[in-house]
Amino acid sequence: MTAENMDVVLLGVGTCGEDLGLRLAGEGLNVVGIEAELLGGECAYWACIPTKMMIRAADLIQEARRVEGVAGHADVTPDWTPVSKRIREEASGGWDDSVAVSRFEEAGGRFVRGRGRLTGPSTVAVGDQRFTATRGIVIATGSKPVIPPIPGLDEIEYWTTHDAIKAEQLPASLIVLGGGAAGCEIAQVYSRFGVDVSVVEARDHLLPSEEPEAGEAVTAAFKAEGIAVHAGVRAEQIDGRGRSIAVSLGEGTELVTDRLLVATGRTANVDGLGLDAAGIDGSGGFLEVDDHLRVADGIWAIGDVTGRGNFTHVALYQASIVAAELLGEDAPPARYDAVPRVTFTDPEVGAVGVSEADARAAGIDVASAVKSVPATFKGWLHGPGNEGVVKLVVDRDAGVLIGATSVGPRGSEVLGLLSAAVHAKVPISELRSMIYAFPTFHGGVGEAFGAYARGLQQVLDPERDQSLMA
Ligand SMILES: Cc1cc2nc3c(=O)[nH]c(=O)nc-3n(C[C@H](O)[C@H](O)[C@H](O)COP(=O)(O)OP(=O)(O)OC[C@H]3O[C@@H](n4cnc5c(N)ncnc54)[C@H](O)[C@@H]3O)c2cc1C
Repeated sequence: MTAENMDVVLLGVGTCGEDLGLRLAGEGLNVVGIEAELLGGECAYWACIPTKMMIRAADLIQEARRVEGVAGHADVTPDWTPVSKRIREEASGGWDDSVAVSRFEEAGGRFVRGRGRLTGPSTVAVGDQRFTATRGIVIATGSKPVIPPIPGLDEIEYWTTHDAIKAEQLPASLIVLGGGAAGCEIAQVYSRFGVDVSVVEARDHLLPSEEPEAGEAVTAAFKAEGIAVHAGVRAEQIDGRGRSIAVSLGEGTELVTDRLLVATGRTANVDGLGLDAAGIDGSGGFLEVDDHLRVADGIWAIGDVTGRGNFTHVALYQASIVAAELLGEDAPPARYDAVPRVTFTDPEVGAVGVSEADARAAGIDVASAVKSVPATFKGWLHGPGNEGVVKLVVDRDAGVLIGATSVGPRGSEVLGLLSAAVHAKVPISELRSMIYAFPTFHGGVGEAFGAYARGLQQVLDPERDQSLMA
């Protein structure tokens, strides 16, 4: 069969594949997008959007519970029905991508539903169709859940995040394996809707890729809400028991649950992609890209498949660089030193740059500051639900912030200031002398820098806080 010539072949039209395809087709390139499932991918149908809808609903419940003792009394009866209806009807359109397909085609793109594979350095096959890319192939096939090799796991019906998002009825109990961002977000939502939730995390604290202070704050909030946290232990054996599931944590501890959610990380989606045919080494899991996202001559990779941070904003950032490359524009090299990361638990965890431990391990002369949010003016005024911490990691020699964490109410929004500071390498002297609005949560960053008058600072003066004032 003869292959059709196209300027660009997109393998995977998910979160960033769609964005790139729309841009390139809009610029008049001949683009074919090959998508095995839903055009628009994880973020729209299975990840960011539906989970954030769930979180918004769960946060409303919790805020109502905080009325007591502050503003009177509120009774709240959680009901999952409107949440699942909103996800089904508003977020995912019933997991139907026809609107997205029309948008793609109206922009001038050609859409092919099917699982594509590379057949050579510039050729792709999907079903019985063949395409030759004259400008380039872009691999944007995303990631899939890692399923750990725990004895017994493959013999039960476990959930992945897809099942937790699609559920129309909630189970009475849920064990979440994995205390990373997705596991923690779903654990808290389910708990707030009345599910008896336990989280099992093999590493020492929840959110193990973030500062320990972040994991501690989220653990404290979880425990206060009745979520059991088992950190520093592994699930060793899983057994189906009729309609229940037993999870053995060793040392005689066994947890029994109705449902088990596996949220133990993600790996690149490269199965059956035909990487060998294009001379690409996929043995390392994620695809190795250079700073212009090239994985081989004439082939680029973007999004989760590159392993540079499983975030929509990273995927879209990479797509913008590849768009420039394919359009023959100057494309800046990708940088990842200021990638913002957010876990939308309550308290929210925003983080950017390196952790204190990683910076020290890299031999950087580091100063750090920690300010607890309840001990900031805004945190103290806020009252219930004010748990959190601001942590700053400073490179003393360079005089700039290289890492920061903002845990607390609106921790994701406070992160904007911190990300700008890390990205633009704003001198610490500027961050200390700038004016922070009073009283705000981002003002807590100023307080951590010791930016407010000492007298005022002593009103709250928590012993455990250190500021960078000295
Ligand atoms: C529960 C959860 C919550 C999340 N929340 C957030 C959040 O709040 N904020 C955030 O920034 N990130 C979040 N993420 C991460 C975010 O969803 C991903 O980083 C993002 O969707 C990745 O985009 P992508 O284009 O790389 O992959 P995807 O959107 O997964 O797209 C890849 C596409 O490729 C297709 N495909 C795979 N193989 C083939 C093939 N051989 N042929 C054709 N098509 C193929 C797949 O069907 C898929 O549609 C979350 C993730 C999860 C799991």
